Amino acid sequence: MSEFETAKKKRLIKQVLTAVIFPVVIIGGWFYPVLGYFIPICMVAGITIAFYRGRKWCDWYCPRGSFFDTAIKFISPNKEIPAFFKNLSTRIIMLIILMTIMTVQIIMVWPDPYKIGKVFVVILTVTTSIAIVLAVIYHPRVWCCFCPIGSISNWVGKGKKPLKIDSSLCIDCKLCHKVCPIQVSAYKFKGSGVEKVMDGDCLKCGLCTTACPKKALSL
Ligand code: SF4
Ligand code: SF4
Repeated sequence: MSEFETAKKKRLIKQVLTAVIFPVVIIGGWFYPVLGYFIPICMVAGITIAFYRGRKWCDWYCPRGSFFDTAIKFISPNKEIPAFFKNLSTRIIMLIILMTIMTVQIIMVWPDPYKIGKVFVVILTVTTSIAIVLAVIYHPRVWCCFCPIGSISNWVGKGKKPLKIDSSLCIDCKLCHKVCPIQVSAYKFKGSGVEKVMDGDCLKCGLCTTACPKKALSL
């Protein structure tokens, strides 16, 4: 088994372990709204990790991201993600819309803890439905491009423990982009020497470092 296949398998095992949590929360939450509190916990955990390791949370810790990478990928054509979904304006608009809806809904049911939990479950269900539609049309990780946790993690975590590229070794084969779960183009960050891949969407999964035929990438 190649180094890349081994890395992919190890990541898959970790993702399956977190992915199983996702159906429990999203289905169980409709019967036990207290499960909805898992969502703000994920939000805080993901953003906290971002201060140290960028979007590492979205690699395999996030149950929804893992669920999409391990299960939804089978019904996705895995096309190129349109640039629109990664635009700063798209991310800001989605962040404002979702945070506003969440805040208004919580205020409306305050202080009932069960109804507040239900608000989180409803938001998770609606956003997951949108994410599935986008996955079926384009790619399993389209939602992750403008997910509020992912966007905030991108902004606060950019440059933290970055992927690096040795410009002298890269041959522009673009394999790094092809294997990347969120389609980062590491090769575009080539410069005059060893450069940081300053794309805040990098999940630090390490797949590209093992796939690169020239070992030009490192984490
Ligand atoms: S896989 Fe390696 S050699 Fe190919 S484009 Fe990416 S960094 Fe360059
Ligand atoms: S750029 Fe490399 S390390 Fe970053 S998410 Fe893509 S494959 Fe993983």
